[in-house]
Amino acid sequence: DPVLLWFRQDLRLQDQPALHAAVEAGAVIPVYILDDETPGDWRIGGAQRWWLHHSLSSLAQSLKEKGSRLILRRGRAQAVLPDLLAETGARRIHAISHYEPWWREAEDALGDALCLHAGNHLAPIEHITTGAGQPYRIYSSFWRALQQFLPPEAPLAEPERIPGPDRWPASDALADWALLPTRPNWAKAFGDDWRPGEATALERAEDWAERVGSYEEARNLPTQAEGTSRLSPHLHFGEISPRQLYAQVSGATDADKFLKELAWRDFTDGVIRALPDYASRNGRPKYDALRWRTGEDAQADLKAWQTGCTGYPIVDAGMRQLWVSGWMHNRVRMITASFLVKHLLIDWRVGERWFWDCLVDADYGNNAVNWQWIAGTGIDANMFSRIMAPLSQSEKFGAGDYIRHWVPELAGLSDDAIHDPDAAGCRPADYPAKIIGHREGRERALAAARTLG
Ligand code: FAD
Repeated sequence: DPVLLWFRQDLRLQDQPALHAAVEAGAVIPVYILDDETPGDWRIGGAQRWWLHHSLSSLAQSLKEKGSRLILRRGRAQAVLPDLLAETGARRIHAISHYEPWWREAEDALGDALCLHAGNHLAPIEHITTGAGQPYRIYSSFWRALQQFLPPEAPLAEPERIPGPDRWPASDALADWALLPTRPNWAKAFGDDWRPGEATALERAEDWAERVGSYEEARNLPTQAEGTSRLSPHLHFGEISPRQLYAQVSGATDADKFLKELAWRDFTDGVIRALPDYASRNGRPKYDALRWRTGEDAQADLKAWQTGCTGYPIVDAGMRQLWVSGWMHNRVRMITASFLVKHLLIDWRVGERWFWDCLVDADYGNNAVNWQWIAGTGIDANMFSRIMAPLSQSEKFGAGDYIRHWVPELAGLSDDAIHDPDAAGCRPADYPAKIIGHREGRERALAAARTLG
């Protein structure tokens, strides 16, 4: 009998344990299902649809080179897969485990036909819990506990050939899914920064292994030079596995800091595994009573934030980078997120949704855990009252050139003036004044938190 290989966020042939198991079992029918129903509000966002299109097209090509095909279907995974089993006479489905709640819902419905394999994490996260079986709240404790599982096993090589069935089931045409934007084509610059697919992910990882030594020093500086790996969308879509990346960099000097950041992915998936609605519910229920701003003024402020017109150069540079390239530097994600939640007193979930739609690396667990951490509403120890100062952050991390690149109105300003052109008295006429003062925003946020007691 043939077996189904169900691709999700693991679009690769190397180190693909589900593929490996499927090939051992016999003829393989690889399938990708575009499921916009089960995830509800969390269906794949706009920027990631662009990525997905290119990644699937690259995967289909690689499968073809192995004598196989990629079957595309659309609908609820838990309905499409049983239909495919009946249609092809297959009895088993091989897949890699993922922890997003909609995947788990689909997995539960598939029952015994589904055979899950680990493959998306550095370590078996279901075993990294506190003594009481709870997820770790603090990252450093999680990281300590994860060490006992390192190094991970060596990555699997890709199979030479992938045997196919006598008769292939029908497939949708990728173009019919209309994953790419048309009018307006807001993704037109994505191709300058990104080439989705396994081959590029591997090249990027090789290249990164040469530069990983400077990570600790360079990672916090938002510049156009690449101080971080920029592997996040490749990792999200599973075009490279964490253990391949581990194998790639662990021989390099000073790779520890990077591996520690890489393990954040495992941590955030551990959180959503234990708390599936963490993306929509405050980790600390106390904050359910917080009175976020929602009126017309707040809507206008939200628009200014989304379009990069807040009058805070570092915030605007980040938000424009996000819109134009589908990605934002980590330090600037922190600054822009904090600005929305604290200075504008807008619910973190509103910002989280915007990121979900705009990021090529949008990740359910990663995005939620980071937003709740910044907001101070999460299960971790961070406080709501911790408010980042965007202007001094901008200066401290030397964001001048980054701002010049993304906010051309300010390109002519000196290093001294560019972080706060209002204060320097040289704000160009075509650049907006600050939509709220730093002290004013800070005090409003603190006052709102005080009402919670
Ligand atoms: P590198 O610094 O090279 O790190 C390598 C990999 O480690 C990353 O690709 C990522 O998988 C992981 N990693 C690094 N830092 C973190 C972190 N703080 N939290 C979790 N994983 C991390 N990352 C996402 O992948 N998807 C998201 O949706 C996402 N949303 C975020 C929202 C906010 C408000 C903030 C503050 C951060 C968010 N991050 C998210 C985390 C982080 O900003 C990105 O992972 C990182 O910027 C990706 O760039 P890189 O691949 O060059 O990272």
